[in-house]
Amino acid sequence: MATPSPHAALRRWSTPPALTASIGLHAVAAGTAVLVPEAVWWALGGIALNHVGLTAAGLMPRSHVLGPNCTRLPAAAAARRQYALTLDDGPDPDVTPRVLDLLDQHGVRATFFCIAARAQAHPALLRNIVTRGHDVQNHSHAHRHTFSLLGPGALSREIQRAQQVLTDLCGRGPHCFRAPAGLRNPFLDPVLHRLGLHLVSWTRRGFDTVTADATRVLQRLTRGMAAGDIVLLHDGHARRNANGAPVVLDVLPRLLAHAAALGLTATTLRDAVPPRDSGRTA
Ligand SMILES: [Zn+2]
Repeated sequence: MATPSPHAALRRWSTPPALTASIGLHAVAAGTAVLVPEAVWWALGGIALNHVGLTAAGLMPRSHVLGPNCTRLPAAAAARRQYALTLDDGPDPDVTPRVLDLLDQHGVRATFFCIAARAQAHPALLRNIVTRGHDVQNHSHAHRHTFSLLGPGALSREIQRAQQVLTDLCGRGPHCFRAPAGLRNPFLDPVLHRLGLHLVSWTRRGFDTVTADATRVLQRLTRGMAAGDIVLLHDGHARRNANGAPVVLDVLPRLLAHAAALGLTATTLRDAVPPRDSGRTA
């Protein structure tokens, strides 16, 4: 069998079934409008409902409707009784160094979904994350609140820019992407496929950017915690308690102790999640 050319196109993006159905619905609606003009309002109503459904799917961070979405570690990692601790929105010059110290004390490696613009502002801190054995992945360049409203071109530029910055600073490229607030639209998956990035959300999250009660955050993370979980906390945008202390610093030691008591060990997404099968040959 011939060796594929290193310049061969990426393996074709396969349309998620929900989008295939949506495209079919649009074709049927267009045909109906032409052939049965009196039914045009039913056709338009069907399309409107379809768009409501797709929008709702984009507002559900753990949904698989708009394309592949890693909400748990692969089965092999779960079989090894591993879980992944992920920390979003950093690096933060105040919180991240203290998070790193806590992780060192517990011998735990984590995955940091960094905002590339923040990484650019604190390059030494980003390199410190990597030097201490942790994983850095792509959480967009600017963490725009309008991210899920962007079209394919703007999505691509935002993610690629972050990819370039993080690769330059870390010396290796992310292979996972997490959308700001987990919100997305149907244009995202083809962009991620082209860039060879997995969409990664989470199994459970603590809402630690909004909840100041560390015990409440901990309960959300540990209720039903099991092998294969991807848990989400924040070293950036960290909510502070009444004393001004970032909640994550209170939650983290208790979370790590709970995981250890369950016989779980932490892994990183780089170690647990293989590269996205995008058909890259070079
Ligand atoms: Zn975020």
